Amino acid sequence: MMRSKQLYSQLSALFPREQLFTDTLTCMTKGSDAGLYRLIPKAVVKVNSEEEVIRLLQFCHREKVPVTFKAAGTSLSGQTISNSILMETGPGFAFSAITDNGLTATFGCGMTGATANRLLMRYRRKLGPKPASINAARIGGIIANNASGSSYGIRYNSYHTVTSMRIIFADGSLLDTADSDSCHSFIASHPQLISEMRQLHHDATGNEVIHEKIARKFELKNTCGFGVNALIDFSDPIEIIRQLMTGSEGTLGFVSQATFETVHDAPLKATAMIYFAGLREVCDSILPLRECPVSAAELMDRNALRAVEDQEGMPPELKLLPPCAAALLIDTAADDEETLLLQMREIEGKLAHIRTLSPIRFTTDRERYNRYWKVRNGLFTSAAAARPPHTACIIEDIAFRGEILGDALTDVRALLVQSGYEDAVMWGHLLDGNVHFTIFPEINNPAGVERYAAFMHHLCDLVTVKHDGSLKAEHGTGRNMAPFVEKEWGSDVYALMKRIKQAFDPYNILNPGVVINNDRDVFIQHLKQIPEVNPLIDKCIECGFCEVSCPSKNLTLTPRQRIVAYRYLAGSTATGRRKKDSISEQLKEISYAMEETCATDGLCSIACPVGIDTGKLVKEIRWKHNGRWAHMIADSIANNMAGTTALLRVMLKVPHTLGKMIGYDSMENITRGLYRLGDGLFPLWTRYTPTGSKKITRNSFPAVLSDAPMAVYFPSCITRSMGGPSYGYRETNDLPTTMLSVLHKAGYTVVIPEEKERLCCGMAFSSKGFTVQARKKEDELNKALLKASRNGAIPIICDMSPCLLHMRETLDPRLQLYDQVEFIHDYLLERLQISRQLVTVAIHTTCSSTKMQLADKLMEVTSRCAAKVIVPENVECCGWAGDRGFFYPELSRSALTPLKQGMQDATEGYSNSRTCEIGLSVNSGVAYQSVIYLVDKAST
Ligand SMILES: Cc1cc2nc3c(=O)[nH]c(=O)nc-3n(C[C@H](O)[C@H](O)[C@H](O)COP(=O)(O)OP(=O)(O)OC[C@H]3O[C@@H](n4cnc5c(N)ncnc54)[C@H](O)[C@@H]3O)c2cc1C
Ligand code: SF4
Ligand code: SF4
Repeated sequence: MMRSKQLYSQLSALFPREQLFTDTLTCMTKGSDAGLYRLIPKAVVKVNSEEEVIRLLQFCHREKVPVTFKAAGTSLSGQTISNSILMETGPGFAFSAITDNGLTATFGCGMTGATANRLLMRYRRKLGPKPASINAARIGGIIANNASGSSYGIRYNSYHTVTSMRIIFADGSLLDTADSDSCHSFIASHPQLISEMRQLHHDATGNEVIHEKIARKFELKNTCGFGVNALIDFSDPIEIIRQLMTGSEGTLGFVSQATFETVHDAPLKATAMIYFAGLREVCDSILPLRECPVSAAELMDRNALRAVEDQEGMPPELKLLPPCAAALLIDTAADDEETLLLQMREIEGKLAHIRTLSPIRFTTDRERYNRYWKVRNGLFTSAAAARPPHTACIIEDIAFRGEILGDALTDVRALLVQSGYEDAVMWGHLLDGNVHFTIFPEINNPAGVERYAAFMHHLCDLVTVKHDGSLKAEHGTGRNMAPFVEKEWGSDVYALMKRIKQAFDPYNILNPGVVINNDRDVFIQHLKQIPEVNPLIDKCIECGFCEVSCPSKNLTLTPRQRIVAYRYLAGSTATGRRKKDSISEQLKEISYAMEETCATDGLCSIACPVGIDTGKLVKEIRWKHNGRWAHMIADSIANNMAGTTALLRVMLKVPHTLGKMIGYDSMENITRGLYRLGDGLFPLWTRYTPTGSKKITRNSFPAVLSDAPMAVYFPSCITRSMGGPSYGYRETNDLPTTMLSVLHKAGYTVVIPEEKERLCCGMAFSSKGFTVQARKKEDELNKALLKASRNGAIPIICDMSPCLLHMRETLDPRLQLYDQVEFIHDYLLERLQISRQLVTVAIHTTCSSTKMQLADKLMEVTSRCAAKVIVPENVECCGWAGDRGFFYPELSRSALTPLKQGMQDATEGYSNSRTCEIGLSVNSGVAYQSVIYLVDKAST
């Protein structure tokens, strides 16, 4: 194998420095997937085009260097890791083309499944494959694992819905299966591969035993081994090649894009939660249900229900269920209410003879619908979060024929108990006979590994020999099931699989060791260590769900990578592998990637199945790194908030005055120069930095009518100091004045808390790790707001969504705290006369608004005020992060790369955080404003 140094020098001749990573820490963090194995790549190469993939594969082919492809790295079977080159799919592959009114669609392999579905939604269409990981998983990974989920896992998986692909093979050649010229030239240039495909088809169809076995086993969901059904379903070698790519786990070639036949997405849904005496009884419903118009049928055992029953908002009956009960959640969907009703009656009728613990009742009520699905969606999360420390979290994925499912699951449950995994939580997709269960083995010590290995051998016997089931229904074979593929398929079909690999990849450079592996113990080698390093992150299962919305994902690290780095450094400190004795010292060495470029917005916690907020870890690191001087400065600002805001009010007017005199371009040249020279000392001023606000001189703004409703308005320290207009504003009023104007129009009497000048919610201190100063400001604000709102009797509005969220998390629960968007939506819209403006606007939901679930309200408010509202695709956190954008503008630039294009024809932009609006303006060229300006313009 090529040495790292030599590899680096050769790769650096082929790829620019920003696409090539070779230091151990970066390779280790980028090299993680959701499985239980760890390999550290020698190099990671980020590719953004087919041309780059070809360049890399030609090199690997020539030099016989192994390469593994990575999409989102959410795979569970150890198929996305490498100790050679890891090829990371970059944003260049996140493209799409919707055709035929949404009936077909082409997606680049870097597009997430959820984004593809968002684009298809307007045509009432969606992708067929629906893995639970769809928010993070990308098209390349979905196809290469033949992933599926709760709905029609077999009928609508990639095998059955992908109609064409562009494939790059191990030798760097490209085949576009939709282009006849490309097919002809591929056939001419690859005679051996084509002839072997013909031969394989002949051998599979010509042997009755093999043919029957393949047909029978693919009646089940099956991702164990290659998709050899391609050999019997197709005779054309190009079609066989295309179909074999599905489920090939990066071992046969790279899929750069694929065209799907999409499936109908009926908008009306009804659900029924049905309780049964046991798993066997649930399984009795499988055959009648298969004849019904059911879009999902999710099975849950008692352990699964127990994992969530104590949580808030769960159906109360869960706690009353007997110890062996089980549940089935059925969904049915239709385009109109009449059909939906007919479907519900049909299902109820067909299940009438099945014994249940309570009558079957469907609901279309949104709240109850969501509550039932919360049980299903929360069970894995809760079980994984409650697992014992330093245990791994393994999700198994087996399938059986419907007729024997009850017996098979009874056997699996008995095996789990026998093996000491009696706490395993079981759930699954009933119609496909596909069941998952989680076990939490101790893989840090040999005894734990031995127990896990014995369990796996027994499970494989039970699934394949006793019940002729499938060992991996949807998660792929990887390294985890590779030693058991032959057991499941027998030596005849396994021999065909080996020939497939040999024909596509004669030098075994594509993801070697995955799917086909002669090492019987590979499933227990290179196991990840699960160290206990910090309670904030110890439950992390490295699934990568948090990566997609992280603003620093394309600049430095993702949340998962921050955790992997932290674990690695903490682990190396503990084992003495590194000389430095404190993790804090080591973290300083990577502080730019680890903490300086984290927005601490906590968006990662929303997607995380175990609720980890990596931002909290970063705040803790900052707190440890803050020196004496930093604390003194923070103390001084916290103690002199009035002086600080007054100074800012004045200072912020100066650059705008100069800009108007010498021109904004010249002014920005000067401030850019100062920013560079200062090297972290001076913030970067741009034309979109606000000018200072006007000082608020009164505390009371009475309405005209004496019986007017009252509101307390808390203008944040940001808007009190930098709430003025910036370049691009047509308005001259600052934000607080505009807020008061709208409240006045709505007939409100407004009170501003006394001593407002010294008040601050403390969020700015907290996000930098100044916890003491933050606490002080929180206490002061709490007292002032309790007083102004008469102990919470009067509603309070704040004009910065991040501050409002922080206030909700830290202040007295009696206070009725409203974000501006929420207050406008809930109270003001009905009191204002609004005339819709003939304008197209773009809106931005801030991270705090996402956490407070305000996106719909922002959409409703702006839709009432503007003719057209656009939500730019793929834009999540703006990355400005309070004042961080002034010092690290590259974070916002990276996070907002898709913004400009996503705004389409919008000429105005609106949000609800003044600081985020700066980042949005700088990176779009349109001056984003608070939504209150739009409401003010549109209302009388
Ligand atoms: C909590 C959790 C729940 C999950 N639930 C489900 C589920 O319900 N159903 C399900 O099917 N899976 C599920 N998975 C597994 C996994 O998320 C899916 O299989 C997903 O489709 C993998 O996509 P990815 O983008 O993460 O691919 P990756 O993990 O990055 O890659 C998957 C495989 O594809 C290869 N690959 C990547 N890109 C390409 C490409 N362009 N061309 C060729 N090969 C490529 C890789 O080498 C690798 O072998 C779950 C995972 C987790 C952690
Ligand atoms: S807090 Fe934000 S920036 Fe930091 S890791 Fe989480 S999502 Fe990324
Ligand atoms: S932090 Fe959460 S979402 Fe991110 S990798 Fe860990 S468990 Fe997964």
